Amino acid sequence: MKDKILVKLQEFAYFIWLILLVFIAVFVTYFYDTNKKNQIYFLQKSFDNVYLKKSLTSLTAEFKPRYVSIDYKVQSGDTYENIIDAIDIPKEEKKLFLDNVKKNKEVKSLKQNQKIFFKLDRKDQTKIIEFKIEIDKKREAIFLRNKSLTSFKFNIIEKNLTKVVLYKEGTINNSLYSTAISLGIKPNTIVEFARLYGFQVDFQRDIWKGDSFQIIYEQFENEDGSLVENGDILFANLNVQGSDLNLYKFEYDKKKVDYFDENGKSMRKTLMKTPINGARLSSSFGKRKHPILGFTRMHSGTDFAAPTGTPIMASGDGIVTRAQWCGGGGNCVKIKHNSVYQTVYAHMSKFGRGIKKGVRVKQGQIIGYVGSTGLSTGPHLHYEVIENGKKINSQKLKLPSGKTLKGNKRKDFEISKIKIDVLKSELIAGLN
Ligand SMILES: [Zn+2]
Repeated sequence: MKDKILVKLQEFAYFIWLILLVFIAVFVTYFYDTNKKNQIYFLQKSFDNVYLKKSLTSLTAEFKPRYVSIDYKVQSGDTYENIIDAIDIPKEEKKLFLDNVKKNKEVKSLKQNQKIFFKLDRKDQTKIIEFKIEIDKKREAIFLRNKSLTSFKFNIIEKNLTKVVLYKEGTINNSLYSTAISLGIKPNTIVEFARLYGFQVDFQRDIWKGDSFQIIYEQFENEDGSLVENGDILFANLNVQGSDLNLYKFEYDKKKVDYFDENGKSMRKTLMKTPINGARLSSSFGKRKHPILGFTRMHSGTDFAAPTGTPIMASGDGIVTRAQWCGGGGNCVKIKHNSVYQTVYAHMSKFGRGIKKGVRVKQGQIIGYVGSTGLSTGPHLHYEVIENGKKINSQKLKLPSGKTLKGNKRKDFEISKIKIDVLKSELIAGLN
């Protein structure tokens, strides 16, 4: 009997070993996994430690590669000085760079949304070895450091891109974004489209399934379509629950472009109600129990919940009067728009590029990013509007509307509008 069992066992020996191995494997993986999770947890914990963070950045700085590339898109109000000041290079280097670009008439003035590129050599003292700037969609200026390093060689490169004008229309099922993407519209164009309507439409709350949109926009492409750059939106329409919101691009002053409705009225208002996209109003103006302090007090602003890092826009043109830590408000920015209005943005994770006291900002310009600094229970934007020194409810703000074109400008606008309408019918006819 015993022998028989032994023989049987021998027959199954391989099988038993196999099962044992599987058990060992599962066991080992499990412990490895939990261990790893713990390690990650402790690593994250130590990353949150500011002091360690600092020493880590200085440590990693030692290992940074020799060449560094910087891509940047010019924001309104930017100057060569503030851009070059944001880069860590010696003074003489900054001066040499500024002298070179400023004596070149093709590039000496910066335009909003212009793409620029720096290549730095960090060997010994950091030097700019290449600087590129887009003159227009078809041409690029390039400054290459000469061998002796004393100056730059200047060249213009033709990009050989063709401008195409596209017409797209769609019905919104899920979100404007997903519908537009499915139509092949590039993300930057969609963001721009949403920004145009930022004063009138809250894309989280006002858009319903079945609402539709039309858009005419430019795109620059090379021969095989592998390189695509964004151009301007020429026309946009958003049909919200049966009513059309038409917007026409129009150059109302030399090199000054804005969007107007069919009656020549600008969509730009003095202040935006919601200086952030894709956020949820989480706490409104008025008396409430403070989530951290626990007692009831006046909530003198409006809170918008949004993920950390969501860009926050200047709700109107103005001058930054504060961009610093302000206690319970964490990192905050204050903007003075005119003699009547000021706005405050609090709990930011970080400030926008170049945002500091005294800087002039344009409506819609990114001034910072959502965070949870100061007295805050989670990532959100605390937004305050101050009217004649008194905090008021931004959501009930009676906004002075944008200007309406008059006189000759209105006539020019009507002509430009007709041209766009003709273009639109041609493009639609081309679709069929
Ligand atoms: Zn708040």
